[in-house]
Amino acid sequence: MEDLRLGNGYDVHRLEAGLPLFLCGIKIEGPLGCVAHSDGDVAIHALCDALLGALALGDIGKHFPDTSDEFKGIDSKILLFRTVKLVKGLGYRVGNVDLTICLQKPKLSSYVSLMRVTLAGILEIPVTSVSVKATTTEKLGFVGREEGCAVYATAVVIK
Ligand code: MG
Repeated sequence: MEDLRLGNGYDVHRLEAGLPLFLCGIKIEGPLGCVAHSDGDVAIHALCDALLGALALGDIGKHFPDTSDEFKGIDSKILLFRTVKLVKGLGYRVGNVDLTICLQKPKLSSYVSLMRVTLAGILEIPVTSVSVKATTTEKLGFVGREEGCAVYATAVVIK
């Protein structure tokens, strides 16, 4: 019988003018970017937390501390690679993942295909097992005021 485990992750980064914005490993064109120790890919951070959560391995801050120079400005895809390696090291593989990106602007629909392909490659699963959804928050709250980007992620791992 398969051992199937579920994890969730949530991350928020502040947005500021003049910084690059990376989501799911893709550079998003726009005036605002994430303030962060790494490249600020808030979507990948939430996904790493979901994968770690599925196996009760703690969180991204425990594995990749933002106080460490090793992770300063790091491409978050590397963090995801390393997280997948941890999952595989315990004998599990990723089943499917589902992300919801909350961002007021810009519209992300034209980026979603590339985001899914990028994540699928790192997770080593079919694109059809990678869901990326984007929503505004109807101009409500910190997302609506364009002060930040929030991402919810869910991941299933299977042994
Ligand atoms: Mg983060």
